Amino acid sequence: MSATPANRLNLLGMRRQRLAEQFEQWGERGFRATQLVKWIHQRGVLDFDSMTDISKSLRARLAERAEIVLPEIALERSSDDGTVKWVLRLADGNAIETVFIPEDDRGTLCISSQVGCALDCTFCSTAQQGFNRNLTAHEIIGQIWLANSRLPVPEGRSRAVTNVVFMGMGEPLANFDAVVEAIDLMLDDNAYGLSKRRVTLSTSGLVPALDRLGQVTDVALAVSLHAPNDALRDRLVPINRKYPIRELLDACRRYTRDGARHHRVTFEYVLLAGINDQPAQARELIALLRDVPCKINLIPFNSFPGSPFVRPSMDAVRTFERLLDDAGFVTIVRRTRGDDIDAACGQLVGQVADRSSRGVRMIRLHAELPPRLGVSA
Ligand code: SAH
Repeated sequence: MSATPANRLNLLGMRRQRLAEQFEQWGERGFRATQLVKWIHQRGVLDFDSMTDISKSLRARLAERAEIVLPEIALERSSDDGTVKWVLRLADGNAIETVFIPEDDRGTLCISSQVGCALDCTFCSTAQQGFNRNLTAHEIIGQIWLANSRLPVPEGRSRAVTNVVFMGMGEPLANFDAVVEAIDLMLDDNAYGLSKRRVTLSTSGLVPALDRLGQVTDVALAVSLHAPNDALRDRLVPINRKYPIRELLDACRRYTRDGARHHRVTFEYVLLAGINDQPAQARELIALLRDVPCKINLIPFNSFPGSPFVRPSMDAVRTFERLLDDAGFVTIVRRTRGDDIDAACGQLVGQVADRSSRGVRMIRLHAELPPRLGVSA
């Protein structure tokens, strides 16, 4: 019986083990899943007929019941500094954004995990859009597949994307299962083969989900802290009212301590003029993080229309950084990249050409997709 388009299985986001189980249900050998994963993710082949080491009968079955479908590229823009931004249109018409940030020794892809976000952080423009829906695992992994297919491969590397950060739209821990399945594919040697240090999950601090994450994977962790005390964090990152700083830091310690993990948490701290950028607040942060093995990533605020916040002066940023540095913290100030294509942190506004109109009419779909730099090895 042939599948209708609506109930065909999209194989793009399936981890190897799930594919193997599916194949076994069809009476096929499980190891075929490894071959299929290699075709899709290593060789970039999507057409079953071209998968020549897979038996004709399985290929016929796949063509009948399954599909490999990617999001559609609605917009691709390249910055003078090499940053590339894509707006991707999903099957239901929603759009998400993905940003590639090249550096000398790596190529970092900043990916989205949800359409919109439910968390309402006051300085984040995605929050203004509200929450629409979770991405599926294939919509998450599709961002990497597409970026690799569009970008030139630098000499000495097998692919353009060497690092992935979950720092686009959405809260990845609020979309746990799909995010973990996509991470499995990122780490699978038969798929993308990224080391766990080259995949960074950034979270606003959903404590129970962070503990669950520690049970199933140990990718690098970035935590959006943004304030040195609960009173201020309650205002900037409202989920703090549910999971206050102490509980969050305990969960960070558990995440890095469990098993054989030696990497540190990266704390992200967006600098907002007059709100959280004062020397006294740097000192409070130093005292707070004294016993947490960590790096600190300072992100000068990028404003967006309607935002009540202001970016601090470079002097204020340097003073804040110096205080942390002097206290022995590894501190990075994130550079703004892709300014000319609105791809900087907090600035990106989804723009999709509305095909029903003449020419290119830009419609605002959502905002904020922050490229993250220097957060993983
Ligand atoms: N929900 C996850 C992942 C989204 S990326 C999280 O909260 O970590 C979110 C990051 O974007 C946050 O760390 C925040 O620092 C950054 N961010 C959001 N809006 C920003 C803005 N306007 N300027 C600079 N950074 C911003």
